[in-house]
Amino acid sequence: MAGRIRDEDVALVRERSPIADVVGEYLQLRSAGGGSLKGLCPFHDEKSPSFNVTPARNLWYCFGCGEGGDVIAFVQRIEHLGFVEAVEHLARAAGIQLRYEQGGYVPRNEQGQRQRLVEAHRAAAEFYAEQLLSPQAQAGRRFLTERGFTRADAEHFGVGYAPGGWEALTAHLRKKGFTDKEIVLGGLASQGRRGPYDRFRGRLVWPVRDVTGEVVGFGARKLDPDDDGPKYLNTPETPLFKKGSLLYGLDLAKKEIARQRQAVVVEGYTDVMACHLAGVTTAIATCGTSFGEEHLKILRRLLLGRSEFGGEVVFTFDGDKAGRNAALRAFAEEHGFASETFVAVQPDGLDPCDLRVQRGDGAVRDLVAAKQPLYEFMIRSRFEGHNLDTPEGRLAALDAAAPIVASIRNAGVRKLYGVSLDRWLGIMDEEFVSRRVREHMRHAQHGGRPSPRPAASAQADHDPRDPSVQRERLPPQPA
Ligand SMILES: [Zn+2]
Repeated sequence: MAGRIRDEDVALVRERSPIADVVGEYLQLRSAGGGSLKGLCPFHDEKSPSFNVTPARNLWYCFGCGEGGDVIAFVQRIEHLGFVEAVEHLARAAGIQLRYEQGGYVPRNEQGQRQRLVEAHRAAAEFYAEQLLSPQAQAGRRFLTERGFTRADAEHFGVGYAPGGWEALTAHLRKKGFTDKEIVLGGLASQGRRGPYDRFRGRLVWPVRDVTGEVVGFGARKLDPDDDGPKYLNTPETPLFKKGSLLYGLDLAKKEIARQRQAVVVEGYTDVMACHLAGVTTAIATCGTSFGEEHLKILRRLLLGRSEFGGEVVFTFDGDKAGRNAALRAFAEEHGFASETFVAVQPDGLDPCDLRVQRGDGAVRDLVAAKQPLYEFMIRSRFEGHNLDTPEGRLAALDAAAPIVASIRNAGVRKLYGVSLDRWLGIMDEEFVSRRVREHMRHAQHGGRPSPRPAASAQADHDPRDPSVQRERLPPQPA
């Protein structure tokens, strides 16, 4: 596919790629009046929309950062593509067969490389999906059945099987005309001393798609207990697979995230499947990394809907939650979305996939519906271990929870959580509670201890504003 694309084909691609549709794949657009649309700019950080799209002229422009251009320039910029690749990308979406000038001006090097890798991944995903039906994939099919997934579910999510042995996929891709260099560059095989060998062997594989629905990598779970590799193995960082800005399930969830103004962050591939099948169609998961800044930016662009305020981001956690909550809270505050952050924890520690198997679809929907605002969740967590039926127990719970309230940066929000804390503990004395909160604020500022401090407080009073906590990110989500 080397060479220069014919001018008339480029013009056709431009004409058949409505800018509002293409941009709308990445961010939520709403009317800006006068026939134009606006949304949050994907190219610079902003909280109110200055990114404008004019469908009548098929152009976009950002008043914030000054970027702008046509639909091809947009795709180049957002997908980090060259001109040829961007045109190829749009042509495929629009169903246009491109023609190339012979001996064109564009050198055959990096141009089109991404396209080749996308094609290799498409071929690999098809291969894996077919292999799931083969006799040797029995353990893989059993894994899915035990988790409540039917064959149709597996097909819907494109789940496949990577055969054992060393070069089943590599041999298949070579036959399809891909070079060893492309196969290794795409992370589909690793380079060994005697040539490339398959990265994923004897594993169940989930194709990871980018926001436009192209497969850009895989997540793979081991099936053989004797396999001493990690439980989950992902595609390494490649020109296509940038795990810091990929969310599994986003291709399926993005429209619902925009419509419902909610995103549910779960921990694994099977949890995303379980949620979607149970009716929580806004579920997504990170791919072998913690939830970070780029993930948040992607969600924010989708969540910006009718108002300036982004919707809800619901984090579901199973088990060991204390450390995660501290990290989540530090992250949410740093990025200014604490008020939009919710936490949903199944009390007995089941993840959405197990929950669905044991208690059905309704239980998964209930889990998400029972979400609590981040601060409320953190405050109530501090009540654990205290007997709220006695004055001594309530006072100890108050002193355990007050540092959380004290550390809320927004004064108005802090005040209202103080009122709530009073109600939740049934103390019925707002002034007493807010004085206690202020003591903890002074304590945090001066590094001293609040007094008096009841010895009955069982929980470690670690200060959530401790800088060592704030630097933390959410812990890795195994998937
Ligand atoms: Zn901008």
